[in-house]
Amino acid sequence: MKYKSTRGGVADLSFTDALLMGLASDGGLLVPEQIPDVSGKLDEWRSCSFVELAQNIIGLFVDDIEPTTLNRLIAEAYATFDHPDVVGWKTLDKLTVVELFHGPTLAFKDVALQLLGRLFQHVLAQRKQRLNILGATSGDTGGAAIAGVRGQHNVDIFILYPEGRISPLQELQMTTVLDKNVHCIAVNGTFDDCQRLMKETFADLEYKQKYQLGAVNSVNWARVLAQIVYYGFASLKTSTAAEFSVPTGNFGNVFAAYLAYRMGFPIANLIVATNDNDILARFFATGEYAVSSVHQTLSPAMDIQVASNFERFLYYHFDEDSVRLQTFMTEFAEHGKASLGAAPNTALFRSVAVDRGQTLAAMSEAQDLYDYVLDPHTAVGYAAAKQLGRADAPILCIATAHPAKFPEAVVAATGTVPTHPSLDALVGLEQRKSSLNADLRAVKEFLATAVSA
Ligand SMILES: *Cc1c(COP(=O)(O)O)cnc(C)c1O
Repeated sequence: MKYKSTRGGVADLSFTDALLMGLASDGGLLVPEQIPDVSGKLDEWRSCSFVELAQNIIGLFVDDIEPTTLNRLIAEAYATFDHPDVVGWKTLDKLTVVELFHGPTLAFKDVALQLLGRLFQHVLAQRKQRLNILGATSGDTGGAAIAGVRGQHNVDIFILYPEGRISPLQELQMTTVLDKNVHCIAVNGTFDDCQRLMKETFADLEYKQKYQLGAVNSVNWARVLAQIVYYGFASLKTSTAAEFSVPTGNFGNVFAAYLAYRMGFPIANLIVATNDNDILARFFATGEYAVSSVHQTLSPAMDIQVASNFERFLYYHFDEDSVRLQTFMTEFAEHGKASLGAAPNTALFRSVAVDRGQTLAAMSEAQDLYDYVLDPHTAVGYAAAKQLGRADAPILCIATAHPAKFPEAVVAATGTVPTHPSLDALVGLEQRKSSLNADLRAVKEFLATAVSA
């Protein structure tokens, strides 16, 4: 499979080139040149384990890693999960919760980042290259990205996070990793400051080249690819085409579901569940994509206004027409809004915004009726599914984090403190972090010094 940019300025990249490029060099996002049709293979794939299905699906999209090597990397990535099927499955009457949080950092981001780390290691060793990953996190991405590359010789990872503004457990998941290639940077500022510092560092192309900077955020194609697998896997477990409810921030997770649908997996509908940051719910209702200010909610990983993967969806919505896409994105960049003129004509997607009260009510309902604890992100998807779910299709709710990662919200909703042994084990461990002011020069100097050392 070859890769091209949504903006039309990059084409004919191999899979590993796409992996290392991250964001396309023309400012667009990388997508495969074709979406393979797997409908003829589904009967055979129904009996596959998660790892076997991952090997079958991912293999269709990788043209330049030897199949036995690729299959080994995939098997190793999912051996780190502590559920025998990788994905957990919990039926609550008409809804089924698909648990994606059985990886090392208890968030669904492990599914993609455990594989991404191993792909980087393999490709860099082959090319005799090094990579310095720079990322900013408001919580889950940092820990999962660190867990994916810790201990590797050809990668260093630098994660910026706002000091005192992520949860103490999320901080411990990063700062207790003492491997030499891991650098946690507590920034005296907000998450927006961290993201701005990251973007400005990447924007200095000479610096980026000199220090071989790479990115792990969800615009990386390999992250989307790894996420297609669990939609395929879950859809093959139901007897009729399933409806998925997906707690959504950057649109990466639900975009993977869209690709699984396009590949021919039995998927009836997708519910895009948002919190008070409802730009996507408004888009699907009206066709207008318009930023407003960021609201702080109980589901911080979804406190996002501009969904970085949305461009991929729009590209397919415009029938792969880069010119129409560019016009829309330029309009959006200049005015903070752009419109299709009418609600998108799609029976596939539905979307709703779930507020704080509804999120807490969903958590307390699942506890009372099923003795099941939802984390606040999953609760947004659960509440959306209860509102919009069809009567005639199995409804699968994607569970994106283990509730023990968000104890305050769980206590507020249910009165009980959720725990997980791997989080309990972090308390009291030695930590390492560096503190910096929200200053571009300080960040660049820190990186330069660490890389030369
Ligand atoms: C990242 C994250 C999300 C949002 O996923 P997107 O791919 O950005 O839409 C939802 N829930 C949790 C727990 C997350 O960490």
